[in-house]
Amino acid sequence: MILVWYRDDLRTIDHAPLEWAREHDEDIRAVYVWESPPSGLRPIGAASRWWLAYSLQAHRRRLAELGISLQLVTGDPEQLIPQFAAECGAQAVVWQRRYVPELAQRDAAIKSTLAADYEVRSFPGFLLSEPWEVQTNEGSSYKVYSPYARKAGELLGEDVGPGDLQRPPELEPDWELDEDIRALGLVSEIDWAAGFREHWQPGEAGAWKALDRFEQRCAEYGDYADKRDYPAVPATSRLSPHLRFGEISPVAAWQDISDSTFRSELLWREFAWSRLWARPDLATTNVRAQFDHFPWAWNSAAGEYGLTPPEEDYAEQLQQWRRGHTGVPLVDAGMRELWATGTMHNRVRMVVGSWLTKNLGIHWRHGEEWFWDTLVDADYASNPFNWQWVAGCGDDAAPYFRIFNPLTQEKKFDPKHRYIQRWVPEWGTPMYPEPHVDVKESRARALAAYKDTTQRYRAGVVD
Ligand SMILES: Cc1cc2nc3c(=O)[nH]c(=O)nc-3n(C[C@H](O)[C@H](O)[C@H](O)COP(=O)(O)OP(=O)(O)OC[C@H]3O[C@@H](n4cnc5c(N)ncnc54)[C@H](O)[C@@H]3O)c2cc1C
Repeated sequence: MILVWYRDDLRTIDHAPLEWAREHDEDIRAVYVWESPPSGLRPIGAASRWWLAYSLQAHRRRLAELGISLQLVTGDPEQLIPQFAAECGAQAVVWQRRYVPELAQRDAAIKSTLAADYEVRSFPGFLLSEPWEVQTNEGSSYKVYSPYARKAGELLGEDVGPGDLQRPPELEPDWELDEDIRALGLVSEIDWAAGFREHWQPGEAGAWKALDRFEQRCAEYGDYADKRDYPAVPATSRLSPHLRFGEISPVAAWQDISDSTFRSELLWREFAWSRLWARPDLATTNVRAQFDHFPWAWNSAAGEYGLTPPEEDYAEQLQQWRRGHTGVPLVDAGMRELWATGTMHNRVRMVVGSWLTKNLGIHWRHGEEWFWDTLVDADYASNPFNWQWVAGCGDDAAPYFRIFNPLTQEKKFDPKHRYIQRWVPEWGTPMYPEPHVDVKESRARALAAYKDTTQRYRAGVVD
């Protein structure tokens, strides 16, 4: 009997642990541990929990078609996995690797405990390359995307993956959770995410549906590179939450879609993960230390987890931003899209991030935490990495003085206001206010603060 321990890899296609198990035994069991994260690592946010519940439901059904039962347990995997392996008389335990440093360390400890009694194997599959493989010639991790992508591309070569992958069978969404999945408490009794169902189908079948839809669009229009910045146009793949929960492998996406811009986006994902591997503190610490002295609004007395409560002087502005009531149409549209669907178009993510961190002067960590809670694709690497990129304090980040003007962005990327009208129905009526913060003045303030911090840092006079 072989035990497959599922984590962020809720799929059956292009899943090396399952393939290995099927080659070596007919008797396979699967387990998922709803675990409390190791100390210092935050629990997943509310929108991700919603996704996980339905992804588990879909995965269980898919595995059942293959004659494999998926058992759910709650607690500490360091105790539960050895216990479960013993109870079911496993000869081997297999899993797909994770790349959050704290989780990888925990997995290494579990591996060494198990190794005394079982064959234990871990496999790649969450990323295209192992983060420790894509290194500079000096053996360090890349801090700039372009050379990273070049090296990653060279290592990947022409033939990524096994070629033609079988598609999973179609599966209709199942919104009635099994009792044991419901008991995990991932989905709250108040059905606040009801709207998500119109937009998503968590699980492997939903992932392949999204990939097929995208592939068809690429074949028909070939307009990903041109249209991916227009939030009203459905030109992007919408694969991010499926990749986040491992319902489809990045190899499958890479193989199916040869568009070079799309592939470079997949490499941004890899780059973010390679940065997290090198910088486990990515979600809490400015990568560029000079920003430690930037006067961002932040409540440093906050606790370890959850949404940091803002201090009084900026609480109202933060709340208006979160709820999409800033009076800036593109920002409000994005924040409302996020609340209603669990996602936000990438261009708009950059605009709302710039507005928060530059025009409002609020710390990127407040934005990162809000996205962490509300995005269905929130992950340990891409979310903090992109927030630091937007705020200007990360690796290869947008320079701080690149402040997105949300009104210019609106003209350029939503010229007919289709996106804004969809999410802000009162826009253009007397009900919709002027921006609560003046666009030009706040930009000038942000630039002055940046100049001041930079000068003081260079002069060595920061405290
Ligand atoms: C402030 C901010 C926060 C973000 N937080 C996340 C997050 O928590 N999780 C997440 O997956 N993406 C995050 N992104 C990146 C990006 O917005 C989403 O990956 C993208 O919008 C998902 O839509 P899609 O699948 O249709 O993307 P597509 O355009 O179809 O891109 C294909 C895939 O490439 C990857 N990708 C694309 N852009 C990026 C990027 N900038 N960084 C990393 N990977 C990328 C994603 O896996 C995506 O599914 C964030 C961006 C910003 C500006």
